Amino acid sequence: MIPATFTQALLRGVRSHCPRCDKGHLFRKWLKPRERCPVCMLDLTPQRADDFPAYIAMLVTGHLMAPLIIALSVDWDMGPVAMMAILVPLAIAMMLGMLQPAKGGVIALQWWFGMHGFVKERLALPEAEDGGAA
Ligand SMILES: [Zn+2]
Repeated sequence: MIPATFTQALLRGVRSHCPRCDKGHLFRKWLKPRERCPVCMLDLTPQRADDFPAYIAMLVTGHLMAPLIIALSVDWDMGPVAMMAILVPLAIAMMLGMLQPAKGGVIALQWWFGMHGFVKERLALPEAEDGGAA
């Protein structure tokens, strides 16, 4: 139920699933997280994703667009107006499409590391290295 690794928790969040149980859906609306997971009742109100998902979406979009811009201008010899007609809608679509997965990933990250009032539940797992718990 509780993910064994950070990567597993992150992937659950990116798929907009609850990072703890992987069964409940994280979002009530597009970017509006639920108050709690409907399956495992994880309290999601401590999440503080803020602008971070938007920064991730811009960073990833920029890195994916750069080779495309170079290919269009060098290999295809495309003019600036035609390039803008292709690149601007594509960039907007990519950024909008990435916002929810990015936000789910940020929420999963905050939950995994016990940030902002999330309880760091993985310490209860037997493979936790630091002493005290388990
Ligand atoms: Zn859950």
